[in-house]
Amino acid sequence: MKYVILTHGGVTAPQSGAESCARAADDALGALDAGGEALAAAIAATARLEDDPRLNAGTGSNLRLDGRTIEMDAAVMASDGRFGAVACIERVKNPVLVAAKVLETPHLLLAGAGATAFARRLGFADHDPATDEARERHARAVAALRDGAGDDQTDDAARFHALTAKRFWNFDAEPIECDTVGAVVRDVHGRFAAAASTGGSSYSLRGRVGDVPLTGAGIYAGPHGAVAATGVGEEIARRLLARAIYDWLADGVAPARAAQRGVAMFPEVVAIGVLVVGRSGQAIASNRNMPSAQLVG
Ligand code: ASP
Repeated sequence: MKYVILTHGGVTAPQSGAESCARAADDALGALDAGGEALAAAIAATARLEDDPRLNAGTGSNLRLDGRTIEMDAAVMASDGRFGAVACIERVKNPVLVAAKVLETPHLLLAGAGATAFARRLGFADHDPATDEARERHARAVAALRDGAGDDQTDDAARFHALTAKRFWNFDAEPIECDTVGAVVRDVHGRFAAAASTGGSSYSLRGRVGDVPLTGAGIYAGPHGAVAATGVGEEIARRLLARAIYDWLADGVAPARAAQRGVAMFPEVVAIGVLVVGRSGQAIASNRNMPSAQLVG
């Protein structure tokens, strides 16, 4: 069986992120060549993407509404059902590597201060993920809130964010700044894995958890394939997007069709991207120009 590696840099990330996606795919291939399984490859790719300061995961993650706090989510899943995730983890360089360590515990998800303390206990050093790029994104987001986008919000997530901003900050705008990085892999033994990491959406309250660490929302993997999604987390989680696409694969739907159906579950105003790999092929689909890369061999 051929291996398949798909990576993405986030549905609204700059096209320059495509270089990192290609490098991340190379790292995943390196992990497979070194004898690693699909899971090790997906983790290697995602860790590489977290290190690109242009992308909203790991170093370069979005600042929360206060302009100081950074809370990150990450998750990994393998086709044998192993799942590990962290939510709202702070001050680590590679949240996906901490999520991978959760696999060794009896738990699926560690959150907040407990997740950060778990990372420290395992030797993950204190790291400030804030970058000038993230501060600029935050400044732009705040300016957009100040300018105000009016009350004609058309999707639920926009309404949620606008209401939150109004109630607590007296601002009003549509959320536009989000993004996740992620990877899906099939190895030559037919094992599948998915991994994802995000700084969340920029108009977020402290403690907000998106789709990434929720099983079946942002990622899913099983014997029929693996899926990773990017886009407004509340919208993705509400539809259990990754699991919905996986179920279509399990029913025999081709990966390209399953990916398109997944994106079509959302109104155009909601930016969505998915990576899908199954037994019969692979697909990348998005309703935006999402930076991504693919390696098959
Ligand atoms: N899904 C991520 C979140 O809501 C953001 C994104 O992928 O754009 O946390």
